[in-house]
This record gives sequence, C-alpha cells and structure tokens, in this order.
Amino acid sequence: MSALLQKPIDYLKGVGPNRAQLLKKELGLHSLQDILYFFPHRYIDRSKYYTPGELPQTTADVQVLGSISHIETIKQKRGSRLVATFTDGQHSMELVWFRGQQWIQKSLQLNTPYMAFGRLNWYGKKCSIPHPELELIADHEQRKGNFQAVYPSTENLTKSGISQRVMRQIVENLFEEVQNKLQEVLSDEMRNTYKLMEKNEALKVIHFPQSQESLARAQFRMKFEELFFVQLQLGLKKQHRKERIKGIPFPKIGNYFNSFFHEHLPFPLTEAQKRVVREIRTDLNSEAQMNRLLQGDVGSGKTIVAVLCMLMALDNNMQATLVAPTEILAQQHYSSIKGLLVPLGIEIGLLTGSVTKKEREPLFEKLANGQLQMLIGTHAVLEETVNFHRLGLAIVDEQHRFGVAQRAKLWRKNNTPPNILVMTATPIPRTLAMTAYGDLDLSVIDELPPGRKPITTTHRFDSKRLAVFQFMREEIAKGRQVYIVYPLIQESKVLDYKDLMDGYESIVREFPLPDYQVSIVHGRMNARDKGYEMERFISKKTQIMVATTVIEVGVDVPNASIMIIESAERFGLSQLHQLRGRVGRGASKSYCILMTGSKLSQDAQTRLQTMVRTQDGFELAEVDLSLRGPGDVMGTQQSGVLPFLIANLKKDVDILKTVRHAVDALLQDDPSLSLTNNGNIRLALSLTQQGKSIWKYIG
Ligand code: ADP
Ligand code: MG
Repeated sequence: MSALLQKPIDYLKGVGPNRAQLLKKELGLHSLQDILYFFPHRYIDRSKYYTPGELPQTTADVQVLGSISHIETIKQKRGSRLVATFTDGQHSMELVWFRGQQWIQKSLQLNTPYMAFGRLNWYGKKCSIPHPELELIADHEQRKGNFQAVYPSTENLTKSGISQRVMRQIVENLFEEVQNKLQEVLSDEMRNTYKLMEKNEALKVIHFPQSQESLARAQFRMKFEELFFVQLQLGLKKQHRKERIKGIPFPKIGNYFNSFFHEHLPFPLTEAQKRVVREIRTDLNSEAQMNRLLQGDVGSGKTIVAVLCMLMALDNNMQATLVAPTEILAQQHYSSIKGLLVPLGIEIGLLTGSVTKKEREPLFEKLANGQLQMLIGTHAVLEETVNFHRLGLAIVDEQHRFGVAQRAKLWRKNNTPPNILVMTATPIPRTLAMTAYGDLDLSVIDELPPGRKPITTTHRFDSKRLAVFQFMREEIAKGRQVYIVYPLIQESKVLDYKDLMDGYESIVREFPLPDYQVSIVHGRMNARDKGYEMERFISKKTQIMVATTVIEVGVDVPNASIMIIESAERFGLSQLHQLRGRVGRGASKSYCILMTGSKLSQDAQTRLQTMVRTQDGFELAEVDLSLRGPGDVMGTQQSGVLPFLIANLKKDVDILKTVRHAVDALLQDDPSLSLTNNGNIRLALSLTQQGKSIWKYIG
C-alpha cells in the first residue's frame, strides 16, 4: 500500500504531465499520498442557495442561482475590472473580477443558468461577489452529496483550468485507486475508547462529506491521528531517555546547599520557587538524567533556583555551569551569583567571548582539574576547547535563544551526559509547550515574589513626546532610572541604527550634563564597552539607558522604574513583555510607556491594547498565538513546532489534551509497543520514521 501511495501524481487518471507539473509547483503535491492528505480548507453547503432578489444582508459565503445578462470591462484608475450582471430576471447583482479577466470573459456563457459561489460584498444596497466560483447549473445538479470540499488553490491553477471541479475529480480518481486499501494506523482499542472513525472512512468523508456530523467525526479522527504520532514520538523519546541514558545522580544534600539555604538566602523563597526546587531535587536524586524545562515569567526569580541547583551539584563533588545568551547577562549573573556565594568560598569563573587567551589558560586548567567548581558564561562555554573535570549540571538561561544543536553540545561535555535544566521566560502557551518541548519535563514558577507593584502601562503617540520627557524628569528627580529602547531588530539595518543614534542625541539634548548622564548600549559596541556602560547604569552613575534589544534578556536593575519603548508597534508581543519585565523589580512604582506613530495596523493596535490591559505572560502568549499562528511565536521555530496538515494548535487544544492522555495510557500499558493489539501503531510509527522523519525537528 505504501508503495502505491508513493507513486507520483503523473500516473493518476485526470492528471498527466502538465497538470502534475503545476500541482507540484503551486501546491507541493508530488505523490498520491500528498493528494490524499491535501485537505479541503472549507466546505460549501450545496443544499442552500439564494437568488439575487433575496440575498442576506451579510458578508457570508453563499451560493446564488442566476444567469449572466451582460458583461463589460470597466477602466479604473489603475488597471480595470470585469463586471458581469447576474440576474434572476427581476433582480440583479454583480460578479466582479480584477485578475485573469480575458480568460474569464472568454469562458463565460451569457443567459445560461449558473450557480455562483463566493463572499457577498455589500455597498449600500448594491451587492457583488468578487472572484466567484461559477458552475453551470447542469453540472451542479449532477453532483452527489450536499457538502462539497473546497481546496486551497492559486491563481495560476485557476487560470490553467485546474478549477475546484477538476480538483475534486482528481481526488475522486485517487479514491478509485486507494479505496479501502489504506492501512489502519490506530489500534481497535483506541478507536473504541475515543470513538474514532476508521481511517478509510475518515479520509473519504473528509473529501466527500455527506453531512456536517460525519464530517466533524472524520476531522476529529484525522486530527487525532496527526497529533497522536507527534506526541507518541515525543513520549517514546522521553521514555527512552529515562530508561537508557544513565544520568549523574546527586544523592547528597550537603554543606554548600544547607549552609546557603539556611543561612545566606537573600529572601524567603516563594511557594512556587520551593515547589520547583523540590521537583528538580527529585530528578537529580534519581538515576536518570534530568532534562527539565523551567518556565517562569520575567522576574519570577529563576536565578536563585539555578543557584540552588548548582549547589546540589557541588555538594556531590560535581561541577556546574550556567550559560546565558548574551555577554551582559553572563556578566551580570557572574557578579550577582559570585556575591551571593562569597560566604561559601566557592571557586567560580566567567567565560565569554571577550575573555582573552591569556586569561583563558588558567581558567581552562582549573576547569579541567576540577578546581573551578562553577562556570558562568555565554556560548563560549560550548566550544570544543572547553573541558570540564566532571560536569554534573548544565543550566541554560533563556532557552529561546538556544538551538537544539547547542543543547546537544552540552550533552557531550561529560562522558555521562550532565543533568540539564533549561530556563525560559518566554511564556509559551501550554499547547505549544506540550508539542515543542514535549520531550522535556516541565516545571513552572507561576507566582511572582511578594511586594511587586503592578507596572502601569500606557500607549503614547509620538506627538506626546514632550509630556513623556517631563514625566521622565519628575521620576529622575525622585532618584529613579529610565530605559529607552529602540527597535534594532536586525543589527545590520542601517536605518534602525540611525533611529537609535538620532534618539540618543535628542535625549542628550533634552537631558544635558551636568544634571543628567545618559548611557547607551547597542549591538555594534564591543563587549567591554557594553559592560562598562551597563556598569555605570547599575551603579546609578547614569540615569538614562538608551539601548537596543540587547537589554531584552534578563538584565536586573531594580532601581530602574521606567521603560520607554520607541516604535513599539514594531515589536512582537512577547518581546514587549520581556522588555517591560526589566522594570517593576524594585520598591518603587514602575511604568512602561509604549511610543508609536499615529498610523497603526489592526494587529499592532491589538498588541498595544493587550499590553496595556494585562501583565499576565500567559494571556499575552495566547493573544500572540492567535495573532501570529504557532509557526511565528517566538522561540518555536527552532524548537520544531511542526506544520500540521489538519490539526491546528490554536483551535484543537482539547483534542491535543485527549491525545496526550491516550499516549500516556498507551506507553503505560505497553512501553515497547510490543503487544499484538498495537501492531498497527508500531508499523505506522516505523514508516513515519523512515519517511518524513519528524525527529530532525525535535531536540
Ligand atoms: P528571572 O526569573 O526573570 O530570571 P530573577 O531571578 O532575575 O528573575 O529575579 C528577579 C528579581 O527578583 C531579582 O532582583 C531577585 O533578587 C528577586 N527575587 C527573586 N526571588 C525572590 C523572592 N522569593 N523574594 C523576593 N525577591 C526575589
Ligand atoms: Mg533571568
């Protein structure tokens, strides 16, 4: 069967070399299987239709019965449009085309009944349908079934005569070949439990539905299947890791941890922090390697959790490392963690790109002989030349900047792979986390430290800039500090850079010496200069920090209480949220001001309104997901959220939950999938893995 499905579409009745070429190019359909899984994107209820005299006053997709009494081309300012008068004899409406006019005009027949389908467009009392699908009523009546599939298409296809009708015919021909020959891939048991339609039937119904009810069941079945195999692979991978990959257990809680925890904690931990430390402790105490994702909103206090975990490693005579995505952040972690651990007399080192060769030598030596217990750094830590004596724990901060390949490098830093903790502040919606990070265990810090005052977020147009400056002066007079962030989405963009420098100059003019000091940090500066400027800001020598998004990640300056984001419409929601998280960390009331021009797109308005309305990272993430779709949500490209053929992570949350449940139950019962009942699943899985492997997407 699978050989049949791999046959190129050229061999299918009704296709032929020319159409095959087009279908490949326009829709990426190469094999019979591709067509089988080329799902309609909507359906038309062919039992309902209107006449031009009784159209509903809405913008719905409808069928209209009528005939064309007149066609003309109307010149416009730019180009022209083709307008057909569509009538039932008494009333009429218009059918309009802006593209492919010549070809359409030639193919239309006057005074012949048609069924037109498309979206109604009302202009006062006049109604039109732009680019309708037209079908001669004679053909229309021949069709079986009321519901009809509509496939995604392109202009080129339509122009070349591959209409919806042709497409449906091709699919019908396909079904003649594959009818009832498709291998069921789920077990009978599972189909019973979750009331899943049989596979042959489900595919048939999806392409040729007879009723809304059976269509819904067929879609459920195929979505279930699609999500099931992704989740199953993730589940197996996790199981495999737990069983086969020996970890480095830390059985002991010793002096380092105890002394720090009982005598030197700078603040009591929140309940969420305590819970997460316990979860990690359980992992570290077991034989299996830890591979855990720690999710916690900006400012939720992940760093102290990292420190406690590293102390567990040290207590067991192992080394620990913390890797951060930027030099600034690595430096900041280094100095704050070093400060915290002074009383314990721990040897701790810093390794970033700007540590010189000369400085590296002694560092590398101490790392290799085990004298250096803790190493904080950037990607530099991952380099081949960096050798640990016995690395027991690696923590990656702000995971979304990190690729899978880099995680793999960490694994190889020790003979037995070290325990891994990845920490992220990107509030990934749970549905995405379940798919993107399904192979990691998940811990969540869902509580902010006490005493945080909510940040007041406002949106101001550029025309209100003087008022914003005045506000800054007042706050600075109270001893506060201000961030002003410019979008430098791509550091190479000359224009962005100019915006930043212009902005900096105008700030220096507005806030002149000697009363004011202004810092600047951007990606074109070398690490040393960046560090110097950051240091001046942290030590309150400067009151204003003009920066690009280099400060987005993790920087902690509690006295900074105002975040001004320039051209805020150009940032994504998740980035805005990260930036806002830089303030509201100290005792004083904090503000986030979103500056924009006056022309804003619909999406930009939604983003800004959402930021003003809520500070809840997960709510923001959900809005982000609905605005952009899963493929674009920050941090998910690399982590491999698959392009699904039928499932939709946004809409199918409930199905995903059911699937997770099914996978857990299956692996519990039959971890090696060796029971006869699960033969279908085993076979399908092995085919998935041979063919389009999804493994490459997953870390
Ligand atoms: P993030 O999760 O964003 O990395 P940090 O670890 O940088 O957050 O913590 C943010 C701030 O909150 C820091 O100044 C830290 O000292 C403080 N903090 C963390 N946990 C607590 C707590 N339990 N009580 C009070 N302050 C805390
Ligand atoms: Mg952090």
